[in-house]
Amino acid sequence: MAARINTLCLLNPPLFSLRYRASPLKLKPQLHFAQNPSRGALFCTCASIDSTPPNSEPFVLTTPLYYVNAPPHMGSAYTTIAADAIARFQRLLGKKVIFITGTDEHGEKIATAAMAQGSTPPDHCNLISKSYKTLWKNLDISYDKFIRTTDSKHEAIVKEFYSRVLANGDIYRADYDGLYCVNCEEYKDEKELLDNDCCPVHLKPCVSRKEDNYFFALSKYQKALEETLNKNPNFVQPSFRLNEVQSWIKSGLRDFSISRASVDWGIPVPDDKTQTIYVWFDALLGYISALCDDQEQPDLLKSVSSGWPASLHLIGKDILRFHAVYWPAMLMSAGLSLPKMVFGHGFLTKDGMKMGKSLGNTLEPNDLVNKFGTDAVRYFFLREVEFGNDGDYSEERFINIVNAHLANTIGTFNLALVTCNIQ
Ligand SMILES: [Zn+2]
Repeated sequence: MAARINTLCLLNPPLFSLRYRASPLKLKPQLHFAQNPSRGALFCTCASIDSTPPNSEPFVLTTPLYYVNAPPHMGSAYTTIAADAIARFQRLLGKKVIFITGTDEHGEKIATAAMAQGSTPPDHCNLISKSYKTLWKNLDISYDKFIRTTDSKHEAIVKEFYSRVLANGDIYRADYDGLYCVNCEEYKDEKELLDNDCCPVHLKPCVSRKEDNYFFALSKYQKALEETLNKNPNFVQPSFRLNEVQSWIKSGLRDFSISRASVDWGIPVPDDKTQTIYVWFDALLGYISALCDDQEQPDLLKSVSSGWPASLHLIGKDILRFHAVYWPAMLMSAGLSLPKMVFGHGFLTKDGMKMGKSLGNTLEPNDLVNKFGTDAVRYFFLREVEFGNDGDYSEERFINIVNAHLANTIGTFNLALVTCNIQ
């Protein structure tokens, strides 16, 4: 998991042809590093290389499937840059790598976002999903599979999985009356809410909702989850996040609603068209449906045989509960293996402050790439954020680090001189 070590393996030849030239003292830092050097990897670590002996297990790693309510932000870019560094490093070790990313496209929030843009959910999803692909191209992300939860193969796999869990007796119907956060798309426990029933994540009041839903019997898996984590302490990384997960489980797992009667934009529940499957239950299955060959008839067990279980789910810490509690229990219920590791990294801040649209201090990944170049952006976040912890971006620090490490140190390997000033 040493992203810092990996980074230097990824540099392209043009970066070695830079040499730092001391610049006259200026008030604003300047970048002395070539932007967007022509691509051409020093080590070919692209997806098509496969030197793995037959029958050996592939290294399957995933980013979250990003929610398409809005275009990609720096947090999604950070996870994907880190995953890409790991994928390339594993390829250098000679492993067959299946690097999965994609977009999560169902749910009430997507339908609302589409309406706000005067668009339809399918058009909105096409547009935002495409913007993710464009950003991954700009960031030189070497993914192997891009799954969209609106793909027909995904829908087929979700329905098959749902039917297996149902056949195992873990889905039942019940009324639910509670406080709901539309932005989280989940019912909240009153004890976790702030004043005025505000969601602690979105700081907006939850609404009272009563629905007749299908529930997943998560509580049945409390003991099995406890045992899994005790036997495999590496399942959740970094280790301090394991404690967090263990304490959630210890506090008692409650069954959760896995369907919505009020949401049309989703995968219909098998045999009940009046309900759609809860967006998280749907999206997590993308890690398996991504393994399904586009040319073949979608089949859950066939997809599983093409690389499941994943070696690593790389995620942000905010979605740890879904990946380290709900997802393993769902897999156990369906009789499938658990992923080998879930790694929850920290959040990014800007100039020491939380980023947000309302604060007007967001960091747009495409703008950063346009201004400083792909390699500088990749290098800064891999080098400067201690992997697993929160990390901070400031433009001054960015320029100083890139100059000091890429222009000054690595740049002195070659005689050519390139100086690029950006104000
Ligand atoms: Zn919320």
